[in-house]
Amino acid sequence: MSFERRQTKQIHVGKVPVGGGAPISVQSMTITKTADVEGTLQQIYALAAAGCDIVRCTCNEIEAAEGLAQIVPRSPVPIIADIHHQYKMALAALEAGVHGLRLNPGNIRKPEHIKAVAMEARDRNVPIRIGVNGGSLDPALYEKYGGLTAEAMVESALQEIAYFQEVDFDLIKISVKASNVPLMVEAYRQLSAVTDYPLHLGVTEAGPLPNALIKATAGISTLLLEGIGDTIRYSLTADPVEEARAGRQLLESLGLRERKNVDLIACPSCGRAEIDVIEVANRAMRAFEDKKIPLQIAVMGCVVNGPGEAREADLGIAAGNKRGHLFVKGRNVAVVPESEMVEALVDWATFIHEHGAEAAIARVDTALAEREAAKDRNALLEEKGADANHSNEKIVEIRKTISDN
Ligand code: SF4
Repeated sequence: MSFERRQTKQIHVGKVPVGGGAPISVQSMTITKTADVEGTLQQIYALAAAGCDIVRCTCNEIEAAEGLAQIVPRSPVPIIADIHHQYKMALAALEAGVHGLRLNPGNIRKPEHIKAVAMEARDRNVPIRIGVNGGSLDPALYEKYGGLTAEAMVESALQEIAYFQEVDFDLIKISVKASNVPLMVEAYRQLSAVTDYPLHLGVTEAGPLPNALIKATAGISTLLLEGIGDTIRYSLTADPVEEARAGRQLLESLGLRERKNVDLIACPSCGRAEIDVIEVANRAMRAFEDKKIPLQIAVMGCVVNGPGEAREADLGIAAGNKRGHLFVKGRNVAVVPESEMVEALVDWATFIHEHGAEAAIARVDTALAEREAAKDRNALLEEKGADANHSNEKIVEIRKTISDN
C-alpha cells in the first residue's frame, strides 16, 4: 500500500532533495555549542549513523558561525544554520558555507533584514526554511487573530514568502510548528492548501520521552498519511540521536522509506583526505550491494578525525599514510594496505554480522592498532597542520561580514 503525496516544488539542501516526490528526509538538531567543532561533529556523525539526512546547528553568535566554517566541510550530511534574532548571523552562516538557513519570522521582523538575507541566499543558491513557531509568533498577528491560531501561523509564513518573492527568492520550505497537536495539524493542512512549497513537519517542544514520542508521532504521521510533508523532525527533550531514530522508524513503519541493508556513510572528504573518498566509498557500496548485512559502515578520508567522527558506526575505515585503519564502534582494530581497504571492510563486516562486534574486537590486539593509528595521525598533523581546510580564511571573512553590516 502506498500513499498519494501532495505535489510540491523541489529544493535541494546540499545533496539532499526535499519535496517534488523526493524521499521524505529526517532532520535533527545538535545540542552542543556550535563553537565546539569536534563535539558538534561527533554528534553530527552519530545523527547520520542513526539515519538523519540533514542536521541543523544553532548560529546564535559569531563563534558559532566560525565553528560552522569548520564543521561544514567535514560533515557527512548537509548543515542548516538556525537563526533566531540576528539577521547578521544568517549572513555569517552563509559565508561559512552552510547548505540551508532556518529563519524564524516571529523573531526577525524588519523587512529590510529579511530581504538582505534572502538576496544573499539567492545569490548563493541556498534554501531557507520559514520556521514559524507557535511560541514565538509575531505579536501583531497574535493581536489580529486574538491568540495563537492556525490562521495566524499561516499568515506569518505567507508574509515571509511575500518578502522573499520581492527579491526573487523561491528556494523555500516552510514549517508551522506548535506544541498543540490539533493546532499544528490544522495549520499544516491550511498551509498546504495555499502553497506548493515543500513542508517541514514537526511538533515543537514535544517534551521528554516517552510522551513526546507519542505527541510528535500523532502530529507528524497524521499529516504524512494525508500526503502532507516533505521532511520531518522530532523535537524531543532527549539525546538528538533519539530524534533521528524516531524519524527514521516512523518513515520506515509507514512504508515511506526503505529498510536498509548496509548503511554506508562516508565523510564528504576535505583538505585532510588521504584517499579519493568518493572512489573508495563507491567501490565499497558496490561490494556491499548484494550483501544483506544491516550494519552501518563508514569510509573516512583521514585517520586524524575519521575514527572519532564516525565512532557510532558499527565498522569503519580511515585512510592515513597509504594505509587503511579499521575501527569497530570507534575502536581501532587493524591496519591494512590502502589497496585492500574495501576487501578488509567486507571481511570485517561479514564477521561482525555473524559473530557480533565484541567478538570481532576480542580477536585482535587493539592497543597495537591504536598505536599504529596514532603514528599516522601524528605524521599527517605534522604534514598538513591543524587547519587543512583553510577554515581560518573563512573566519576572517565572517568577521568582516559582521563588522561591515
Ligand atoms: S578527510 Fe578527515 S577531516 Fe576531512 S571530512 Fe574526511 S574524516 Fe573528516
